[in-house]
Amino acid sequence: AVARKHALVTGSTSGIGRGIATALAAARYDITLNGFGNPDDIAALHKELETFYGVKVRYSNADMSKPAEIKTMIEQAIADGGLDVLVNNAGVQHVSRVEDFADDAWDRVISINLSSAFHTSKHALPHFQAKGWGRIVNIASVHGHIGSTNKAAYVAAKHGIVGLTKVLALENANQGITANAICPGWVLTPLVKEQIEARAAKNGTTVEHETNALLGEKQPMLKFTTPEKIGATVVFLCSDAADTITGSSLTVDGGWTAQ
Ligand code: NAD
Repeated sequence: AVARKHALVTGSTSGIGRGIATALAAARYDITLNGFGNPDDIAALHKELETFYGVKVRYSNADMSKPAEIKTMIEQAIADGGLDVLVNNAGVQHVSRVEDFADDAWDRVISINLSSAFHTSKHALPHFQAKGWGRIVNIASVHGHIGSTNKAAYVAAKHGIVGLTKVLALENANQGITANAICPGWVLTPLVKEQIEARAAKNGTTVEHETNALLGEKQPMLKFTTPEKIGATVVFLCSDAADTITGSSLTVDGGWTAQ
């Protein structure tokens, strides 16, 4: 039997990360889950992936804003069966105009959405290089290419991760390692639901009204991408068919950035 590859997905207890972990498990990768949430829900996801797909699942509660915890998480993943695929997905949002943007909110968004991918990659790369194989997939956003009001830290972090992806690709171009970014438009996850609920509260409208308004403002295709589809895109980027795709950022955005 061919040994299964091991994929670590940061922020995989919810939303897109959960969809990616599930797609990779379905494609027969062993999985390390990471992220916060209700311990019972996390245990249920852990068990679901193991029983449905028959792969080995681990969980790390490392905080992606803490470099020392990231280092330990990657070292443990490598020690426990080796690491093949690193998906940097954990992310948070904070919405405010720049002049009102809290300093600690800026630092939090930059550390979780950008710096964590530097730290995970730094510790995973020597292992990938020694093996001559590795895949890094960074979940950026349309906001890696364009701006929107009230999202200064998020837009800066996502532009940053698109740049980091290019350097990771160039430095490892002939070592069997690829690094790519995926840039989703709207995906209906808790991160986006919170923004919709905040808009409904602010404008005195319904969640349904604001859901349609949100899509209509920016995205020509009036439907959400699903976490499952982002998961399928990650599986593709890890496949042999994609082994010369590196340094790219792939938009999955219903035409948002085609305008
Ligand atoms: P989500 O809120 O559903 O999930 C975020 C995940 O990150 C959770 O598992 C959470 O526990 C984890 N997380 C948060 N802070 C963490 C920390 N300090 N350490 C470890 N884990 C932490 O959000 P989502 O919408 O699934 O977003 C996932 C990624 O996709 C983010 O990078 C986000 O920017 C990006 N993205 C989302 C959309 C969208 O429309 N939802 C669009 C483009 C890009």
